[in-house]
Amino acid sequence: MSSTAQKETLGFQTEVKQLLHLMIHSLYSNKEIFLRELISNASDAADKMRFAALADGDLYDGDSELAIRLNFDAEANTLTISDNGIGMNRDDVIEHLGTIAKSGTADFLQNLTGDQQKDSQLIGQFGVGFYSSFIVAKEVEVLTRKAGSSASEGVHWRSAGEGEFTIETVELAQRGTSIILHLKDDEKEFADAFRLRNLVRKYSDHISIPVIMPKQHMGEEEPTEPEEETVNAATSLWTRSRSDIKDDEYQEFYKHISHDFQDALSWSHNKVEGKLDYTSLLYLPSKAPFDLWQREANRGLKLYVQRVFIMDETEQFLPTYLRFMKGIVDSNDLSLNVSREILQKDPVIDSMRSALTKRVLDMLEKMAKKDADKYALFWQEFGQVLKEGPAEDFANK
Ligand code: ADP
Repeated sequence: MSSTAQKETLGFQTEVKQLLHLMIHSLYSNKEIFLRELISNASDAADKMRFAALADGDLYDGDSELAIRLNFDAEANTLTISDNGIGMNRDDVIEHLGTIAKSGTADFLQNLTGDQQKDSQLIGQFGVGFYSSFIVAKEVEVLTRKAGSSASEGVHWRSAGEGEFTIETVELAQRGTSIILHLKDDEKEFADAFRLRNLVRKYSDHISIPVIMPKQHMGEEEPTEPEEETVNAATSLWTRSRSDIKDDEYQEFYKHISHDFQDALSWSHNKVEGKLDYTSLLYLPSKAPFDLWQREANRGLKLYVQRVFIMDETEQFLPTYLRFMKGIVDSNDLSLNVSREILQKDPVIDSMRSALTKRVLDMLEKMAKKDADKYALFWQEFGQVLKEGPAEDFANK
């Protein structure tokens, strides 16, 4: 196979084109968030890798130190974000980096007004993700290889964000994904160690795997071998004690797990020990997502077992009328092999669900008493859902 095997030029789905255009304009004043989005994706890919390796340890292929690396080249004006996570094959790339799978996207786009301020709020509710790269990059390349596939099954995706992308099968020695941003001429600030380091600390400190950068040698002699250093705290935020976590850190973690662009209205972080042993961190968003009323909308919590990510959208932990809540549950009681089917039957889940429901209702009650303005905001966004109430939930069970 030659290196240009199966090179194809494909068009973005119409919705992607519209979203790209709007995003570049309405999010420009917040452009630095692209890095948070790309690191967040890389961290999700690492979570998926660790999970896949639970069933098949060979998938690691000798490379089980999951990490995210940032490299830049000030002269070439490029920034590269690499991970050794799960990676993508050709079909994955076409599906994930060429279309928007979220239902209701077309309706959502129709609601955009062209008013920068209003639209950036709306786009925030939608979640921006990978496409936010084009706020700062004139061209984006993705090199990726899925875990378990061979070196000859690498994929090279490339686009200037203007309606088309090319995709080509290439040789890649390692699993995982590298995103290469060819920065716009006036975005050179992002090919700078100091700026990148600050952004990682500001937005991605809570990411549970290391974010690694080339080591800076201020005034010292450069070593012959390049050295690296970890820039973030690299511990799972929820495992730290409440008193050590700043509000900003809670908010950044919220944005990472919810793909929301705005701050959470409130949260509740608890460690439970005793008969059950788990930690929960539950967030109340400040805005309803655009797809709150859609049946297929994302809902449910992220489930971890002993800090290993197990699955997204675990709906079993909260009743339907609290479907707007976001967050994580990390259990020490469940097995690492737990599946959705098992969750539906496990009595441990029933107890956790009652306890978590109570936590949320307590949080709301406290808010209603102590901060009526905040509660009014909550009610305006989610009152209709809450009104569905327990009756509906029991009927569905
Ligand atoms: P979201 O993260 O909200 O799903 P994105 O547009 O950011 O939306 O990403 C779309 C999809 O592309 C992800 O859900 C994931 O499947 C895939 N993806 C993005 N970045 C990576 C990565 N670094 N490694 C593996 N898959 C990725």
